[in-house]
Amino acid sequence: EKAVAATDSSVAADPVAAARQLFVDTFGSEPAGVWSAPGRVNLIGEHTDYNDGLVLPFAIDARTAVAGSSVPAGGQASLEVLSAHRPDEHRTIPLGELTPDPERTETDWSDYVSGSVWAARLHAAGPGAAGTDGTDGTDDAPPGAAALPGLRFAVASTVPVGAGLSSSAALECAVVLATLALDSAGGPGTDRAIAPEQLARIAQRAENHYVGVPTGLMDQMASSAAEADHLLFFDVGADTIEQIPFDIDAAGLSLLVIDTRAHHSLADGEYAKRRAECERAAELLGLNSLRDIDIDQLDLMLAKLVAATRSSVLVPAVDDAEVLVRRVRHIVTENQRVLDVVTQLRSASPDWGTVGRDMTASHASLRDDYQVSADELDVAVDAALSAGAVGARMTGGGFGGSAIALVPAERAATVSAAVEKAFAAAGFTAPVIRSVHPAAGARRDH
Ligand code: ADP
Ligand code: MG
Repeated sequence: EKAVAATDSSVAADPVAAARQLFVDTFGSEPAGVWSAPGRVNLIGEHTDYNDGLVLPFAIDARTAVAGSSVPAGGQASLEVLSAHRPDEHRTIPLGELTPDPERTETDWSDYVSGSVWAARLHAAGPGAAGTDGTDGTDDAPPGAAALPGLRFAVASTVPVGAGLSSSAALECAVVLATLALDSAGGPGTDRAIAPEQLARIAQRAENHYVGVPTGLMDQMASSAAEADHLLFFDVGADTIEQIPFDIDAAGLSLLVIDTRAHHSLADGEYAKRRAECERAAELLGLNSLRDIDIDQLDLMLAKLVAATRSSVLVPAVDDAEVLVRRVRHIVTENQRVLDVVTQLRSASPDWGTVGRDMTASHASLRDDYQVSADELDVAVDAALSAGAVGARMTGGGFGGSAIALVPAERAATVSAAVEKAFAAAGFTAPVIRSVHPAAGARRDH
């Protein structure tokens, strides 16, 4: 079976035009504006973000667009939203007392939208409002929300959903931008600019506290702060970002994203477990986070960790010294690999061979030490490398999703064919392979 083209009948090539058209067809009027935000790929630095570590993502040239208008609140204001991905799921959600529901066990796609409206309005209510002091865990309704208008949104996207390319952050960032703009339109400071770092945090709050998915900040930061033809070097612990030029065409390279189309159900539980293991290891070592371990101290710290695990009051299911050692080794070496790649890419003539080797070493570490890979990801990486990729690795949380391969441009077709062949031989669903370019972050398009 041949891999299908990277298209889907519900997805137009231009998501901005598609969102606008969907809005007009649904609501019978032009939207007040269209906002969009991209998906992302992480070049290197995996599972490091929630350890206060280093990540190096870029936004991809696939975007989620939100066409929107506000509706004067005559009585009960509501959010009306639909998505081209869910043609029969036009949702209407009362906005007056929008609050996260900690008891919620099932997630509807519209929760990403209502959560983003909630987080945007909580932010706009200002630093005096409860929960806007940067702390986690707020359950509040935005003060004064009852007086705000209703909202109508139509969503269209070229970001594959659930493929590890962060369609969730793209949707959140676009909806937050749209909500802030629509709510302030006509008032003082109409459509005031928001710093990308702030946008990222608002979107993260939506995903963490409203939808209830405990992600780090990388996805939202990439979707909001990325620039075209650049990587985003985000040091989570230091809270700094640096734009690093990444002109792959000029380097004669292509970046392939291999969507394995595998989604293993253990992903969520294992993600939470990895976070708990990292927190426990840091606690046993008396550190705020694993980020505090320098590569030169690694062996010493691993020995200390083994000793601390033996002498501690056991926390069942977490305190397996061997497991904790593997997790720590991945995080510390991964941060070092990010620094290595950053050093290369900051130089006038990067050594792409080194970049590729670091990517491949990252994959081995995620597979063997962090244990978050999957057969489909390993087959994709191995086949790409055998066919001439400079480097390849899984990207995103793991257990399915996507892998990336950095390849000489003239070998892109050969590498793609080799991966498709390897998938067919293994009896896997055919992958979808795309060539991506570093693109711009969230913005208003109309
Ligand atoms: P990823 O972010 O890797 O694509 P997630 O599981 O984090 O995967 O987020 C995917 C979820 O986000 C979907 O199941 C859906 O609920 C929501 N979502 C993302 N994009 C869209 C969209 N364009 N239309 C509707 N829902 C979307
Ligand atoms: Mg996501």
